[in-house]
Amino acid sequence: SPEMSTRPEPTVLAVANQKGGVAKTTSVASIGAALAERGQRVLLVDLDPQACLTFSLGIDPEDLELSVHHVLTKGTAPGEVILETEDGVDLLPATIELARAEADLLTRTGREHVLRGVVEDLEDHGYDWILLDCPPSLGVLTVAALTAARGVLVPLQCETLSHRGVGQLLDTVHDVRRFTNRDLEVWGVLPTLYDGRTNHSRTVLDTISDTYDLAVIEPPIPKTIKFAEAPAAGRSILRTSRSSKGAQAYREVAGNLIDRAGR
Ligand code: ADP
Ligand code: MG
Repeated sequence: SPEMSTRPEPTVLAVANQKGGVAKTTSVASIGAALAERGQRVLLVDLDPQACLTFSLGIDPEDLELSVHHVLTKGTAPGEVILETEDGVDLLPATIELARAEADLLTRTGREHVLRGVVEDLEDHGYDWILLDCPPSLGVLTVAALTAARGVLVPLQCETLSHRGVGQLLDTVHDVRRFTNRDLEVWGVLPTLYDGRTNHSRTVLDTISDTYDLAVIEPPIPKTIKFAEAPAAGRSILRTSRSSKGAQAYREVAGNLIDRAGR
């Protein structure tokens, strides 16, 4: 019977780009909420010491005694730290203490695998998706995320032609494939802060996609003021502005990810 079948393991995606302000955190929160709307069980992991994801889900990091930092460096069970949020997703929150994890892990053998171990420990929690919100660097935490992930999404702001960082990120992905996670797949670039009124954005996007031979995850997420309002409300744009174009775009992206994962 279907009840007897074992659950497939969660699809783990890292959302990474060492550039700040490209909508990594917004994408994690919004895609997570969109997946949850579709009945998927979702865990979001905040890997940025700035804790923007945690804050944007209505949780004040200063109120927390335990965070992902304890899970990564002190062996605390993730189940003791995970919180439920009003957005319908679970969260493994961050606090500023995570800034120390980078240094603490630097001297540890196997540090690249530390998050992979946590994800494996979570297998019987029944998540369909685990989304990893990476910090704006290519340091220990991002490498640990890429090592734990099945795929990586690269949010990219299509406003400028300064996308040299993409090459650096892909170099890191290649290193991760060689040394710690040979199965890592680049699922593609996710165009964010997209201004569809000009041809410029599409040109930039096509150039990047051609230059680096990257798939584009459709549709592009339009630039809209609605996103600025969501974090302060402690809810994602899918809840604060249900039918906005941005929310709809993230729903379509989530649908495409579900198709790709075969869930
Ligand atoms: P990152 O995690 O890559 O640093 P954030 O998700 O924190 O980026 O987004 C950076 C800023 O851009 C935030 O103020 C966020 O509200 C805003 N933002 C994100 N997506 C959009 C969008 N589609 N339109 C307008 N503003 C956006
Ligand atoms: Mg962020």
